[in-house]
Amino acid sequence: MTRFVLTLLSLLLYSQVASAHVSGGLAGGFYSGFLHPILGWDHVVAMVAVGLWGAFLGSPAIWLLPIVFPLVMAIGGALGVIGIPLPAVETGIALSAIVLGAMVAFAVRPPIWIAAVIVGAFAIFHGHAHGTELPTAANPLAFSLGFVIATGLLHLSGVAFGLLTRWPAGTTAVRTGGAIISMVGVAFLVGIV
Ligand SMILES: [Zn+2]
Repeated sequence: MTRFVLTLLSLLLYSQVASAHVSGGLAGGFYSGFLHPILGWDHVVAMVAVGLWGAFLGSPAIWLLPIVFPLVMAIGGALGVIGIPLPAVETGIALSAIVLGAMVAFAVRPPIWIAAVIVGAFAIFHGHAHGTELPTAANPLAFSLGFVIATGLLHLSGVAFGLLTRWPAGTTAVRTGGAIISMVGVAFLVGIV
């Protein structure tokens, strides 16, 4: 774990984060909002990781974390809409995949409130990334609704896969999934993806 953190810190120092969210306005309404997180791998891996971790931790995390993420994400989006700046949004999104994936990979089981704070902190970045350009969307409310529903579905798919942890072999599969998510996050961070 220590080695993992050190590697992460060194990557942070030398990284050039790809800017998937900096330019270009948002087009349509519900469908573009719905499709964006599902087609955007930076969102997919983090959102699936939330479900995986929730399933790993069991009740109440299994339903609490998939509620906390979209709620706080909406707040992050609102902060973006009213123009409150948030530094290093792309880095925050990449870090969310790395950290949440690592939580699953290393089977980290903190108290529920700590897990909720970690998940919520990263959700702000996912929301803010789109809040800033949300007013340019054809239908901002429909876009947001589609975005949140897709997020919930990604959490659910993570939870469904995470239920494999009921069996020993499934636990290995889920932890491997967490490790892969973490590595995808590193790829985002260093700009490979
Ligand atoms: Zn995005």
